[in-house]
Amino acid sequence: MTALTLALSKGRILEESLPFLARIGLDPAGDIDRLLRVPSRTPGVSLLIIRPTDVPTYVEYGAADLGIVGKDVLMENGSAELYEPLDLDIAKCRLSVAARKDALPRDPRRRLRVATKYPEITRRHFADKGEQVEIIKLYGSMELAPLVGLADVIVDLVATGSTLRANGLVETEIICQVSSRLVVNKAALKTKNGQITTLLEQIRRASQQGRKAA
Ligand code: ATP
Ligand code: MG
Repeated sequence: MTALTLALSKGRILEESLPFLARIGLDPAGDIDRLLRVPSRTPGVSLLIIRPTDVPTYVEYGAADLGIVGKDVLMENGSAELYEPLDLDIAKCRLSVAARKDALPRDPRRRLRVATKYPEITRRHFADKGEQVEIIKLYGSMELAPLVGLADVIVDLVATGSTLRANGLVETEIICQVSSRLVVNKAALKTKNGQITTLLEQIRRASQQGRKAA
C-alpha cells in the first residue's frame, strides 16, 4: 500500500477536525503540540501539523496528498492547482468589513484605508464595487488598526462578532461565508486514485455524521 499524507491546519481548524478524524481512525497517534509530522492511527497515513497558510503550498507541491484548510486561505492565495472536493462545514465564520462604531464622516476625496491579512480578497472586493482603496497588510490583531488611526476599516474573519464589539467596531459589510475545505493534489488523485477516493468517501461520511450530531 502506498503511503498517504494529510496536511492539517494548526489551531482552531485542527481542533474542529479532530472529532471527525477520530471517527475514521485518522486522529494523530503522537504529541501534536510538539511534533510537526505524526502518524495517524491508520497505518500508512501520516499527518502534517502546519500553519493554515502553508497548507495549500504543501498540497500543491505534493509534499502532502491532501489537506484541510479554510476557504479564506484558498481565496487569498489562489487554488487553481488544487482539487477541492469537499466542504467540511467546520470552522465556520465570514469575511467582513468592519469600522469604528463612532467613525466620523470621511473626506470622499481621500482613498479609504483598509487594514487586513487578506490583501487580494480585499482588493478584489473593492475593485468589484469600483472603489480604489489603499490596502495595509497586517499579520494579526486587525481590530487595533482603526482604533489608532492606522486604517479607516478592516477586512477580517468574524464568527460571533464579540471581538469586534469588544473593540468598539461594527460589521458594515459581509464579503463571503467561510468554512474549511478538503483539498487534494491533482497528480496524487491520479496516481493514488483508489486510496484517495476511499479516504474522501470516509471523510465525507464522518463529517456528515458530525453535522447531524451538532
Ligand atoms: P497563522 O498561523 O497562519 O497566522 P492563525 O493564527 O490565524 O494562522 P487560527 O486563527 O487558528 O490560525 O486559524 C485560522 C483559520 O481558522 C482561518 O483561516 C479560518 O479558516 C478559520 N476560522 C474559523 N473561525 C475563525 C475565527 N472566528 N477567527 C479566525 N479564524 C477562524
Ligand atoms: Mg492566530
